[in-house]
Amino acid sequence: MHGMMMTTPLLITSLIQFAAKFHNDTEVVTCRVDGTLHRSTYGQIYERSQRLANALIELGVKPGDRVATVAWNSDRHLELYYAVSGIGAICHTVNLRLADAEMVYILNHAEDRLVFFDTDMAETVARIQPHTPAVESFISLSDAAGIPAGSPAGALDYEGLIAGVPDQYDWPVFDENAAASMCYTSGTTGNPKGVLYSHRATVLHAMASCFASTLDLRTHDIVLPVVPMFHVNAWGIPYSSPIAGVPIVMPGPKLDGKSLFELMDQEHVTMGLGVPTVWMGLLDHMDKMGRAPKGLARVIVGGAAASESIINRFELKHGVTVHHAWGMTEMSPVGVVNTLKPKFLDLPRDQQMPIKVKQGRAIYGVDMCIVDDDGDELPHDGITSGRLLVKGPWIISEYYKADESALTSDGWFDTGDIATLDADGYMLITDRAKDIIKSGGEWISSVGLENAAVGHPAIKQAAVIGVPHPKWLERPLLVCVSEGDSRPSLSEVREFLAEKVPKLWLPDAIEWVSSLPLGATGKVLKAGLRARFADYSLNK
Ligand code: ADP
Repeated sequence: MHGMMMTTPLLITSLIQFAAKFHNDTEVVTCRVDGTLHRSTYGQIYERSQRLANALIELGVKPGDRVATVAWNSDRHLELYYAVSGIGAICHTVNLRLADAEMVYILNHAEDRLVFFDTDMAETVARIQPHTPAVESFISLSDAAGIPAGSPAGALDYEGLIAGVPDQYDWPVFDENAAASMCYTSGTTGNPKGVLYSHRATVLHAMASCFASTLDLRTHDIVLPVVPMFHVNAWGIPYSSPIAGVPIVMPGPKLDGKSLFELMDQEHVTMGLGVPTVWMGLLDHMDKMGRAPKGLARVIVGGAAASESIINRFELKHGVTVHHAWGMTEMSPVGVVNTLKPKFLDLPRDQQMPIKVKQGRAIYGVDMCIVDDDGDELPHDGITSGRLLVKGPWIISEYYKADESALTSDGWFDTGDIATLDADGYMLITDRAKDIIKSGGEWISSVGLENAAVGHPAIKQAAVIGVPHPKWLERPLLVCVSEGDSRPSLSEVREFLAEKVPKLWLPDAIEWVSSLPLGATGKVLKAGLRARFADYSLNK
């Protein structure tokens, strides 16, 4: 027997329609590429999305077509999210930090018909234009006067496109499983792979993101996604904030500590989301100013591990609460978020910290388990580590054009991460499967060692890779960027680490570098480091 309830499909349009109706004057503030501050509201975003929908139809965009954006976080980008998906087409957000060849590969693989670009990306898209023949139009996110010199030949302007078209659009109702947006994985191994998000997955993920135990989004918050809209849809903020009635502050391209501080301070941002690298920049500026930006109450740190030192700098020095979170492109992306269970709230800080540095507990909708190499499930004891498998309605089933399932025979997605799960459900990533160091019969967590190393006052950033060893097969090499001029010796660093990690993990060598190679999403490129230290000899 069927339940007797409406079968309203879960479509993305419903998110912005809700915001326009019930949070009409809630602001979306953008720091534009030219540095000016632009103020908009959900009501205006919705009206302009309807204009854009009409303009896209006039350009001949059909359901299922791919429309690319090469753009920073902004109000116009948000309008594109809603207009493109709303007409049944697919909003393909391209990571603008990619090298030309990667961008060409992605645009051709996705067969994008239109490319909307921010003005500072004009030269990049002009360079790739000759290599992307399927792209019919390039559209500058500006008015006609703002189309920069050096833009692709025949470039249109966004404001011109949406002027003079009706501000009402009759949104179609279609299958909630239709594709809405796409994003390519960073492709550290092989070519980038396309992940195609459905309307249903996006809406469910947006709803779950609002839970108190997830991002706890409330109308009194003001949220600033430092994480870009081309990086897994800014972790879903463009979809979750409208349904929570939360104002969004879009930082545009200026993501350095000073710019972020000033924007947050001025707009009284209560909550920010980003990767550890950007938070280190902000923390440096907060230390310089001797305070946090006015109103900043909490930050979500994800994309890479939040170290104890980042958590302490935010919480102890500046009174800003840190929530660690984990996810991936294939998961829309949120999988776990760290909130303390009530029984841990009154623990002394040194006992809370081992819990706080864990990535967190699964949110409703995401199931997970850890398995050994034979696929047998491992205990949730907080000690045994294994391959982390996940399942749920906003998790990938197949890569775009892959023609085969991305899942194990029993329907799990293997994240490629190695993790422990404890009896309270907290998950700790101990490594990427490909980064773990296998020393003798033991596994050494590169992430665990890095987190411990950055606790040393002379170490600003650290990355650990395995290098060949005649007896143990692999031993850890610690590659560091120094904080200031002092460079402690290997034995001093080992002494410092000995209190924090098992003896077996202590690095066999240390190398100082001026910077670590970062990928397009701001994470350390271990592959780059491995190539650089490929012939490293531990006996030198
Ligand atoms: P995102 O960086 O947005 O989470 P990606 O798909 O680019 O998505 O990268 C996903 C991978 O990043 C994860 O599989 C994991 O290895 C790593 N990662 C993400 N969040 C964390 C975290 N909090 N701690 C450690 N590693 C993380």
